[in-house]
Amino acid sequence: MKKVILARISTIKVPGLVSDLVTLGLITERDLSVEGSKAVVSVNVPADFPGDLAQVKQLIEEKLAGLNEIETLLVVLTSERPAEPGPKAPKLKKRPLDAPGADMRPKSAAIPGIKTIIAVASGKGGVGKSTTAVNLALGLRSLGLKTGLLDADIYGPSLPRLMGTNERPEIRDERVIPIERYGIKVMSMGFLMQEENPVIWRGPMVVTALMQMTREVDWGELDVLVLDMPPGTGDAQLTMAQQVPLQGAIIVSTPQDLALIDARKGLKMFKNVDVPIFGIIENMSTFVCPHCGEASDIFGHGGAEADAKRLGVPFLGAIPLHMDIRENSDLGTPVVVSQADGPHATIYKNIALRIATRLFPESDED
Ligand code: ADP
Repeated sequence: MKKVILARISTIKVPGLVSDLVTLGLITERDLSVEGSKAVVSVNVPADFPGDLAQVKQLIEEKLAGLNEIETLLVVLTSERPAEPGPKAPKLKKRPLDAPGADMRPKSAAIPGIKTIIAVASGKGGVGKSTTAVNLALGLRSLGLKTGLLDADIYGPSLPRLMGTNERPEIRDERVIPIERYGIKVMSMGFLMQEENPVIWRGPMVVTALMQMTREVDWGELDVLVLDMPPGTGDAQLTMAQQVPLQGAIIVSTPQDLALIDARKGLKMFKNVDVPIFGIIENMSTFVCPHCGEASDIFGHGGAEADAKRLGVPFLGAIPLHMDIRENSDLGTPVVVSQADGPHATIYKNIALRIATRLFPESDED
């Protein structure tokens, strides 16, 4: 079967490439996995690939669509090979995926009951992505939307801490029941594993874990599910962006240039998989001294806004670097609920409103 697949792929003409994908070594037999009627093709796209990635994926899907033996096909584009040690690239190899019930439905298979899904992502860790995701989810809920929050940051799940709960989810009829906290439904691998035991995830497990957490958790009816993505733009993130039917992505960045360079990679990643960018949020923007109230721009300010403009993506807002945000995050009492009428909550809620308006343009939020 693999030979048949390779032979078919080798007949594809990709605009911009001097030869076909197989001759160029972008797909080898090792990059194919076939189990019964499910096939996974991973394409090793070099960083300087001149062609259109979405088109490559589509061409492969079209070419293999006629194969009667294959009912489910997943084409994974691995556009970057992280040089540094870290999360292993999901090669989706032949070994059965590590958890039972691995789901290889093609991307964009809607999840019953969930109207919309958005990803909160960052080019690198430590920029406040999870804090932002939590407060935005609570902001969406304050608009009356039924909201879920999924901590897909399985390398360092922080949701139990940020939401102040270590409750263990119940399992009913083989489905995990999310924890309810502050009016939203939350799920994190952190609820299922011990804090001191860092888990080393191999690529396929990452994908399986995410699929299970989106599809095998009993979310019930949700207007919006907020996905707190793992930081960075490696293969695991790319695969997640492809596997979950996302309405849009939000990129969190600090004002420093360095973070913005990373943020740009985040933008590119979502663009490559055709996920609309709802905008950039500048986090840890102006520092307001808790004692004297004086504002200082420790990391500079406005970098993300200027960058968003340059890149033609919306700028959603700036969140100050403030002790209250840090303390409440670490206490498990996010500012949107603990200081619901305070200035920070207002900023998060305003951003949430912009997101909600983008998600549900027809309804009249005010
Ligand atoms: P990430 O998910 O990007 O790794 P976190 O959300 O875990 O980042 O935030 C990293 C640290 O920064 C946490 O201690 C958090 O409380 C703090 N933090 C995040 N945003 C702010 C902010 N706007 N002001 C002050 N501290 C913040």
